[in-house]
Amino acid sequence: MGRLQIGFVRSKIGKKIFLFFLFIIAVPLICISVLSRQLSDFVLDQATDQLLRDSTKSVALNLLDRLRGAESILRIVNTAKNNHSYNADAVNRANSVFSQISQEPSNRPSPGKEAVRVSVTTAQDGWPEVSMEIAEAGSSRVIRGTLNRTYLWENLESAYYTLCVGGEEFEEPHCQGPPRPSLSTIEIERPFYFRPYFDGKPWTLLAVAAPDVADYLPIKLGALFAYVAAASLLLTLSVSAFFIRRATTPLDALMLATKAIRNKDFTYVVPVAGMRDEFRDVADSFNVMAATIGDDIAFMEVMARIDEAILAHRPLDSIIRLSLEHLPAFTGAAEARIAVVDHFSAVRTSYVGNGRSHFVETTFSPGQENAPVAPIDAAHLIAKTDTLSAFIDLIDGPDVAGHDVTSRIDAFKSRLAIAIQSEEHEKVLVARAARDGLTKLLNRLGLVERLGEMIQRSALENRHLAVVYLDLDGFKDVNDAYGHDTGDKLLNMVADRMSAALLGRDAAIARLGGDEFVFVLPVVDEDIYKKQIQGVLHELQTLYPIDDLRIQIGASLGVAVYPQDGSGHDDLLRNADLAMYEAKSAGRNTVVYFDASFNSSSAERIELRRDLASAIDQQQFHLVYQPRVACSDRFTRSAEALLRWVHPTRGFVPPDKFITLAEDSGLIVDIGYWVLKEAIDQLGKWRATGDIGIEKISVNLSPIQLMHEKFIETVEEIMRSSHVPATSIELEITEGALIRDIETAVAKLRRLQEIGFTIALDDFGVGYSAMSYLSVLPFDTLKIDKSFVSSFGVQKSAYAIASAIVALAQALDKEVVAEGVETAEQADVLSDLGVEELQGYYFSKPLKPDDLVSYLNARRADLRP
Ligand code: C2E
Ligand code: CA
Ligand code: CA
Repeated sequence: MGRLQIGFVRSKIGKKIFLFFLFIIAVPLICISVLSRQLSDFVLDQATDQLLRDSTKSVALNLLDRLRGAESILRIVNTAKNNHSYNADAVNRANSVFSQISQEPSNRPSPGKEAVRVSVTTAQDGWPEVSMEIAEAGSSRVIRGTLNRTYLWENLESAYYTLCVGGEEFEEPHCQGPPRPSLSTIEIERPFYFRPYFDGKPWTLLAVAAPDVADYLPIKLGALFAYVAAASLLLTLSVSAFFIRRATTPLDALMLATKAIRNKDFTYVVPVAGMRDEFRDVADSFNVMAATIGDDIAFMEVMARIDEAILAHRPLDSIIRLSLEHLPAFTGAAEARIAVVDHFSAVRTSYVGNGRSHFVETTFSPGQENAPVAPIDAAHLIAKTDTLSAFIDLIDGPDVAGHDVTSRIDAFKSRLAIAIQSEEHEKVLVARAARDGLTKLLNRLGLVERLGEMIQRSALENRHLAVVYLDLDGFKDVNDAYGHDTGDKLLNMVADRMSAALLGRDAAIARLGGDEFVFVLPVVDEDIYKKQIQGVLHELQTLYPIDDLRIQIGASLGVAVYPQDGSGHDDLLRNADLAMYEAKSAGRNTVVYFDASFNSSSAERIELRRDLASAIDQQQFHLVYQPRVACSDRFTRSAEALLRWVHPTRGFVPPDKFITLAEDSGLIVDIGYWVLKEAIDQLGKWRATGDIGIEKISVNLSPIQLMHEKFIETVEEIMRSSHVPATSIELEITEGALIRDIETAVAKLRRLQEIGFTIALDDFGVGYSAMSYLSVLPFDTLKIDKSFVSSFGVQKSAYAIASAIVALAQALDKEVVAEGVETAEQADVLSDLGVEELQGYYFSKPLKPDDLVSYLNARRADLRP
């Protein structure tokens, strides 16, 4: 059904109705045709039958009349012949009826009374020859006449049916009329009664006809029915198709409109024409509905576009323009004005548009920055922020039927308000984003932007730029020692001094965070710019009077020059950073200019730092132990655990190299715990196997570890699960590290002592304001740094300092240990000074656990008296 294409009716329902019509018309039409055909056949049969009956009857009467006429003429002729008065008149009359008359003797016995006999013979040409014979009573002669064919058979002639006369004497029935039809014929046979008048063999009359009206009509009956049926069918169908089409055309249009809506086309209008009917009503309301929804959706889309623009932080300007483009059409305003007033610059920007075109007007009105500018009054205010106010003014235009214009205006207003807020927010963010909150110098973002501009300009002017990375030396210590307030003040003073030193130099200055600064200088002259950089360093090294303090710090500076050391800000900053790193390594307080070779050392550092992260898990660490020998009896009392890292490809990496990396990256916390645990385990094992004479193990602590908030907690946990008492562990910490946050450090060290650990001040004598802190620091052992020991005999002061340290320690009741003892002399001198224990290559290098056991056994054997 669905395949059926009925071209002139488009809608499916129309097609269905049409086919239904076709069905209900065709069925009765065919039935009526068949019935009427049968009826007419029946009627025709009846009529034909009657006709034939009547015809044979009249033919019979006529035939009888003619026979009787013939009889009387024959009788007259007979009489005339008998009287010999057979005249011309008689002959004429006889000739019209008879073809031949003769008197002849009878071949039958003469009858008692007169007899008339009719007999039939068949002529040569097949026609029946009828003769009449009159035999008078008692006469032996008869008169015989052969009847004229025409006279007798004339009335058998008919155009419509066949009439036959037959009888015993007929060779075959004699028929006249149209040839005898063979099919569906009606035959009427009636006996021809002439016996009351004549003797002779009986005749029968037969009439045959095909009751075919078609024969009498110009066209065939079947065709007639077909034509009539077809014509009426066609008529009905075309009429019904016409009406169906008329009825369903609006339906088709509705369908097309629905499809259009499905494709989000709300502009399609269902054409309404012709008489008012339900379809038209539906189409009307459909059009209204589609227009309303279409308009709403278009409105929504515009709102969504504005929202999108706001979310994408598109400039306020473009959002206002976008709104203006649509505002008049959706709110029915003839013209819309949106004004934005910048409170600080006092600039008012007015956007005026009617939906087709718009223009922007900027006015400068100082003094009225905060007041809305006439003619726009506060009633038109959309939004007001610290820096911006926005106003809207709509000039009435055509009505927008069917929509709540007020809510639409509100929708525009609220979006514009959000856009204003967002613009403000953006402004603040941009300002904030580009500046460092503490020093108000540029931050990294601002620097990158400025540097980008400076690079562009330098490229155009074919000039060079110096990018200087600056890291303060000793700032962390100041921060930790005197607190963040002091640290912040110091940073601000650094910023001020840098700004002052670079004033008028067209330089960009930034603080990247912490104590890292960057400044960028145009290179005017090779010598001059280097002097300027040196000048900055000099400025920074000058004493900082902060509150009651007089603080001195230094700085390490790395310089990369555009364009030879990098063409973009990334390269330049990275290379300047590398150079700064080299400056730190080179002993700080110095300026280093970038060199391509720095790249490889930095790559190595990056790689090492990465590998360090997985070194614990991959069991690349182990500990070695360096014995500490008592001066009194030269027995080994304890050993210092020292960390070793065997890198899978680089092999042995010295601790000096990786400990700093571990501290920088914070990995030292985990590594430190590992060391502590490993050392404790080792001591536990030694104790379990018997007395090897070692009472204590010294473990190095990084200040980063000590300052870690979970440090004490974790150490306590380690000790809980170990079988070794804390009293067997000495923790070594460099005193320089302690002054960073002296209070916390003191508290933590106290806590460690409470747990049972002894504390050693490592590398004593090389740090900061060492001596003054000694009275407050909780510690048990002083470790004289190896630099003093190695300087004995070389530097006079070394011995003096060492003896002063020993004296001080003894006064404070602390134990003194010297490390880096490489010769017998050094050992002797230190023993004489009163140092309790000695450590150094003279006794032993750091040893693996098993080697240490062998060493101890060997020494004990040596020392045994
Ligand atoms: P340190 O704590 O001062 O350790 C002593 C360093 O002096 C060791 O170097 C040791 O091998 C070396 N030394 C010992 N006797 C002599 C001598 O007679 N002459 C000379 N010239 N040197 C001697 P090492 O093992 O290379 O360690 C270097 C630094 O690495 C250590 O200095 C320590 O600060 C740090 N370190 C080592 N292991 C650890 C650890 O487990 N944790 C922490 N936080 N730092 C560690
Ligand atoms: Ca140490
Ligand atoms: Ca040391």
